Formats: sequence, C-alpha cells, structure tokens
Amino acid sequence: MSSGVAVEEVVRSVLGSDVGHLLIDGEWVPAAGGSTFEVIDPGTEEVVGRVAEAGAADVDAAVAAARRAFDEERWLRLSSAQRGVVLWRVADLLEAKSEEMARLESLDVGMPVSQAKLMVAEAVNQFRYYAGWADKIQGTTVEIGTAERRLQGATYREPVGVAAMIVPWNAPLIAMSMKLAPALAAGCACVLKPSEEAPLSALALGRILLEAGVPAGVVNVVTGFRATGAALAEHLGIDKISFTGSTEVGRKIVAAATGNLKKVSLELGGKSPVIVLPDADIAAAAAGIAIGVFWNSGQICTSGTRLFAHADVYDELVEGIAEQGRSMKVGYGTDPDALLGPLVSQRQLDRVAGYVEDGRAAGARVVSGGKRLAGRGFYYAPTVMADATADMRIVREEIFGPVIAAMSFTDVDAAIASANDTEYGLAGSVWTRDVSLAHRVARRLRGGRIGVNIHRAGGVQMPVGGFKQSGWGRENGPDALEGYLETKSVVTLLDR
Ligand code: NAD
Repeated sequence: MSSGVAVEEVVRSVLGSDVGHLLIDGEWVPAAGGSTFEVIDPGTEEVVGRVAEAGAADVDAAVAAARRAFDEERWLRLSSAQRGVVLWRVADLLEAKSEEMARLESLDVGMPVSQAKLMVAEAVNQFRYYAGWADKIQGTTVEIGTAERRLQGATYREPVGVAAMIVPWNAPLIAMSMKLAPALAAGCACVLKPSEEAPLSALALGRILLEAGVPAGVVNVVTGFRATGAALAEHLGIDKISFTGSTEVGRKIVAAATGNLKKVSLELGGKSPVIVLPDADIAAAAAGIAIGVFWNSGQICTSGTRLFAHADVYDELVEGIAEQGRSMKVGYGTDPDALLGPLVSQRQLDRVAGYVEDGRAAGARVVSGGKRLAGRGFYYAPTVMADATADMRIVREEIFGPVIAAMSFTDVDAAIASANDTEYGLAGSVWTRDVSLAHRVARRLRGGRIGVNIHRAGGVQMPVGGFKQSGWGRENGPDALEGYLETKSVVTLLDR
C-alpha cells in the first residue's frame, strides 16, 4: 500500500529541525554519543526519519535537568492557577495542530488519520481536564492535641518530585498525555521516554509544551530503545516512574526501581473477556465487540480478546463479528475509507501471525482473517478464531493484534469463572438487555474497567487501570493525580 504523500514533509512540517534531537533543559540537543535510529512508516515500511538514541549520559543529563528545574521551583514558582493556564494552552496548541499531529501519529503507528484525530482529541481532553485540577489540589486542617496542649494539624499535597514516564507505541500521544497532564498539574518535573517504535509525537509534544510556556527542564524527552528506559528505571535521581507497557517489562521496572525505592505505577497488558448473554441484541453486540477488539488493529491494552458467548447465540454472534471484520477496510493511514491500519512493525506482525498459527494448530477454527495482507506494510486481516479452549495460548496470552478467540457457555457462573481465569485484570464487557444481571456480572469480573453493552468506553474522568498483573494504580480522573502527589503533615503547637 502506498502513502501517496511526501512523508518527510509531514515530519519536517511538525518537527522542523528538532527531529533527531533530545529535549534536555529546554534545548534540542543530539545524543552525546551521536547515535540515531530509523523511524519506519508501518504502512509502507519506508524510513521516514531518524531520531536520537539516548545513552546513559543523556539520561543522566535529562534527569539532572529535571532535578534542577524542580529544585529551583521553575514550575512551582508559578501559582497553581498559572500552571493551569499553561496546561490549558498546551491543550489549545494541540487542538490547533490536530491535523498535523494526527498525520504524524498515523505515520508513526500506522493507525488511520481519522482515528489518530480522535486520539489527539483525547490528549487535548487530558490537558484541559488536569488544567482544571491544577488549582484544586488541596490539603486539610484538623485540630489535634489535648485541652492542655492544643495542636493544629495541616496536610499539604506536594509533588512527588522528578517523575519519569515510559510509554509504548500503540497510542503514544494519549499514553504520554495521560501521564504528563496530571504530573504537571501536581507540580512534578518530568523525563519522558517514548517507544522506539513510535517516538515522533513525543518530540512534537515537547515542542508544544515549550511553546505553551512550560519552563525549560520541566519536561525533558529522551528517545531510545529499552536500554534508555532501563537507565531511567534504575536512576537514583528519579522519584517516581510511571510505566505503560507489557507485564513482562513492568516486572523489570519494579525490580530496577528498588535501588532508591522510587514510587512505581504500572499500566500493563490485558486479555479482556467479553460475555454475551442470550438475551443480548446480537447484531449490536457483534458490531460493538468487533470494534472493541479490532480497533487500532487490536493494539489496545483493553481490547476484548476472549469472547464467551452463550451457546444459544454463539454461532450467530461469531459469524456476525467475522462479518464485521471482513467489512472493515484495512489500509494506509491517509486512505479515507480505511478503518484499520497496519501493525506497528514486522516483529509485531510475526508475533500476531505466530499466535494465529499456534491457535490453528491447537484446534481453533479460523472463521475470518487469519492472514497477512499482500503488499508492502505490516497489514493483518481482522481475525475470528472459533471453538477455542481455555488452555490455548491464543486464550491465555496477550497477542496485541486484531484477533478474538471465541468460546461458548451455557452457565453464566461458569462463564464468569472462565473470564476471571487469567493473570490479567484490565477490562471486560457484558452484553445483555437485563440491566441488573449486567451489573451483577460486571461486579464479579476482576478487571479495572467493565463496559455494559459497549466494550471500549471511557473518558478522562473515568479511572483506568489494572487488577491483578495488569498494573498498579490508576490513570484518568482524580486518581491519576494521586500517583504524582505526596502528603505532608505539618503540626503546629497553638498554645503551651
Ligand atoms: P514494552 O513493554 O515492550 O515497551 C514499553 C516501553 O518500555 C517502551 O518505551 C520500551 O522501550 C520500554 N522498555 C522496554 N524494556 C525496558 C526495560 N527493561 N526497562 C525500561 N523500559 C523498557 O511494550 P510495547 O510492546 O511497546 O507495548 C505493548 C504493551 O503495552 C502491551 O502489553 C499492552 O497491553 C501494553 N499497554 C498497556 C496499556 C495500559 O494502559 N494498561 C496501554 C497501552 C499498552
């Protein structure tokens, strides 16, 4: 599939000459060792640019810059209301540049521009929402002590300090914004590391933050591979690490954080269940479940990848989801008819294809898809695999591609038990016209976000995060602020 546009132009128009540089202390600088790496357009496999590969010295410099900015109170010296104004300006600038930002994100990740625009809009919402929070972070006062020795207690909510953010490639702009917006509202200084697969929007966001008036050093951006992330995770100058990515790497982050016991929050993988009861509106369920698993070509942590359908509706539903998948146009990001783009890389394509072959060999039936699409680019057809069983790898492991494994049930208690039979606990959905049954099932599912008659739903106000091995902490809403705040008690002797 072809891009039909000069992609270098897109990169240049958004990033100017800053592409290939790191953002450290408000300056765009090359990596100390001079290393760079290629950025590939997954829709064409063409190189669209080169970005800097930060080494340990660059990570040290970025952390030192953030520490200086924090200690000198470059950000905190603004009033909380002024910080809110700056964050609102970030949202305005992002919104004004939404066309270019969406094109850049599409180029980097592969998603259709139309969907990338929704991602930009979500990022805008993040900055607006936390702009509003900036001057509403408050402590409490309480009288303590005794009649003879009166004391007054006050609590202050203070920023945790220097926060590092490490994000994956599947939806980088929104993943970064979900961390940076609350961290900045809380008053932190930050070091951001995007994924090596999709680093461009982090650089673009860095430019916008500076333009909006975030002081130099308050947000630093280091691009690089896992070694760059590992250097951040173990860095003794970082107070808090906020990670989104795989459960496997999440474990490494926790281990690396022990050196200075930095605070850790984790948004990790998922294998989210979808339970369809026999009274559900099957046509609506098929459409909603298909979008809930195939959207962004399945590269969404909350995708509903395990279908448990009541035996009475199983065949109709499986065929309905397959038909939805067949009707979704898979194409290049700028194709206005494309609903799905490519997977992010050859590695991810091989991984998805490998899982489908594994499922087929284990006895699952490929109802639709199950193949790579011809031509250049990492395109894979939306895939429905029926008659899966609980022991199959396609049911147990996160694939992170457009693949759903379908199973049938006759007893709802057994379906809930099967749905909970996973190390993950990120999301899920239940489909029925019976509202009270929907809530009973939703309450028994062990996951951080459950949809009723919808799978992918939410918004900046709704906390998102994982039970079990899907993570620690929550993003979105007031909960996200908690991850970037410490509570300090100040006790004053009122009389002697
Ligand atoms: P990944 O875990 O391989 O990498 C994520 C980030 O961590 C990248 O920036 C990478 O360079 C960095 N990294 C890799 N090894 C590291 C190490 N040892 N120390 C520090 N940093 C390291 O994940 P990915 O393949 O980029 O993304 C897909 C995964 O992300 C999936 O598992 C998906 O479920 C998860 N995800 C979760 C959420 C959520 O909110 N729960 C959202 C999106 C994606």
